[in-house]
Amino acid sequence: MKAIYPALLAGAVLLFCNHSEAQRRRRAPNTNDTISSNYVPSAAFAPLYYTSNGNDYHSANGSPGPKYWQNRVDYTIKANLDTVGKTISASENITYTNNSPGALPFVWLQVDQNTYKEDARSNFPTGVAATQHTNGYEFESVSLVQNGKAEKAVYVVSDTRMQIRLPNKVAANGGKVNIVIKYHYVIPGNFGNRTDYTDTKNGKIYEIAQWFPRMCVYDDTRGWDTLPFLGSGEFYLEYGDIDYSVTVPWDMIVAGSGELVNPQQVLTAKQIARLQQARNSDKTVMIRSLDEVTQASSRPVNKGTLTWHFKMLNTRDVAFGASKAYIWDAARVNLPKGKKSLAMSVYPEESAGEKAWGRSTEYLKGAMEHFSEKWFTYPYPVAINEAGSAGGMEYPGIVFDGIRDKGLGLFYVTAHEIGHNWFPMIVGSDERRFAWMDEGFNTFIDVYASDAFNKGEYAPKRDGEYAPGGGNPADEIIPTIIDPKAPTIMTAADAISERYRHPIAYFKPAFGLILLREQILGKERFDYAFKYYINNWAYKHPTPDDFFRSMENGAGEDLSWFWKGWFYNNWKLDLAIIDAKYVDSKDVKKGMQITVANKEQMAMPFTVEVKYKDGSKQRMQVPVETWLQNKAVTLSFPTTQEVTDVYIDPDAALPDVKRANNHFVVK
Ligand SMILES: [Zn+2]
Repeated sequence: MKAIYPALLAGAVLLFCNHSEAQRRRRAPNTNDTISSNYVPSAAFAPLYYTSNGNDYHSANGSPGPKYWQNRVDYTIKANLDTVGKTISASENITYTNNSPGALPFVWLQVDQNTYKEDARSNFPTGVAATQHTNGYEFESVSLVQNGKAEKAVYVVSDTRMQIRLPNKVAANGGKVNIVIKYHYVIPGNFGNRTDYTDTKNGKIYEIAQWFPRMCVYDDTRGWDTLPFLGSGEFYLEYGDIDYSVTVPWDMIVAGSGELVNPQQVLTAKQIARLQQARNSDKTVMIRSLDEVTQASSRPVNKGTLTWHFKMLNTRDVAFGASKAYIWDAARVNLPKGKKSLAMSVYPEESAGEKAWGRSTEYLKGAMEHFSEKWFTYPYPVAINEAGSAGGMEYPGIVFDGIRDKGLGLFYVTAHEIGHNWFPMIVGSDERRFAWMDEGFNTFIDVYASDAFNKGEYAPKRDGEYAPGGGNPADEIIPTIIDPKAPTIMTAADAISERYRHPIAYFKPAFGLILLREQILGKERFDYAFKYYINNWAYKHPTPDDFFRSMENGAGEDLSWFWKGWFYNNWKLDLAIIDAKYVDSKDVKKGMQITVANKEQMAMPFTVEVKYKDGSKQRMQVPVETWLQNKAVTLSFPTTQEVTDVYIDPDAALPDVKRANNHFVVK
């Protein structure tokens, strides 16, 4: 197969060959004038104006500006899990640092447990209200320490938000306020969806998340980000250090985000030794086996409670699982530049076995090593895959996957949920508004993680998130694109109904990045630009424009036409071969004129392939600029022998809504 690259394409577009002005005026109407098409070049290539110009905070080149600032939150939390009352009670000490250039008269917190209340706003958007409820957060006390003075705080709770009105403003440029909140809440059962408890043979599993009031993000784009938690739009959180302790009955294992600070107090000597062994092992090492789950000797004490103390640095959040039913295993994760992390899995007897969670740690390790090598090094000491009923939920350093997941399904969900540590937990976008910046980006990196794992054991990725029919993604995205009711990628996260959640927040943006990488920019330029975006915004708060600008600057391309057609609209693409004939029918070596029309609103670069009589093929790449002025173009293809067939998009890589007109039989 021969490829012809752009340098050879000069003059390929017949309309712009060396005709004189007089010749041009005399030419007869051609396909471009007569074709019926919905394509409007001036609309596809109209400049896409950014919502604001680059500034000192968000630079035009896609990077944080010289005056970029971000507030910081550090938390110290002491919590108690009461397995009788099914409650969490805790005392939380928040240190909030205002790095903004303005003083703050009040602060806002997210109080997500209130989403389970009977009158919560989350009961309304989908048209189907929840049938089970809790009372949400019950605040015992809220107090402030400001300038060394402690006092009761004045606060207002509105749905899943809490405003604390301060007696003194938090000073600009580094002013601090301390907030101390004592609270408790009843843990939702299975209906919790992202946080819950569930029964297993050897005891309940608790999955504890959204479990402490967390500061809302205050940023330079809209000030306080106070969108309520409605159940679909996920989280937008500040970075800082979280030091937390969880007290549980002696027989429970706690698997938490971050580093376990006091293993001597909560593990047996044997378990500490096995963990050390796992830190040096690429093979999964059992820390607590199935047999040991029911043995009292697998706990350092056999009565009362134990307090598990964890610390996670530079993180948006922490979550944990707790159960006496956990089997526990671990293996080393090898990161770039000789760095290491530890992959661990905790799961009940029901999930055990090589066909199921027995391979969980191997899956977790494989995905982490791939993402780290390809995009950004995993920054935390530990990552945990936890089995429970939340089935597919992500937090920094820990993911909750389904007890009954196994094989391929367990691999996909593990890679996906841990992939969220890159988007949006390292690159800290606002997933409450822009679901595509976490689900879409993560699904995109998962596609290559599946290809890479164990020589393609589970490749290619095909699941509910990406080409759910198991076929060609370029074909499977089409029903969504042609569906007049489908929302666009830029639709607010909570305004996307469940029916469109996977197609629009996961599949379409992920496949859009595949198109960008494999069809528009090429892998090398895409990877450089995407890493430029990741490095620019790691531990920061990028907006959609920051992403678009990063890609345009890093790759050196105005991609307005693509953002507009694919992200802001569901524009259709239909390329069609109108005609193909030899320049000189007596000499096939003089080349062929191939007329291609663009019948719908979207533009794309494309590949033309001719198949010769001897079965060999030749290709030509045609740039998107082909569509700057025309609805139809006639390309000069340098044929070398008799042609039997002409194809456009021969690999079916483009989301062309009508493939039948991509093939032309030469008579
Ligand atoms: Zn996800």
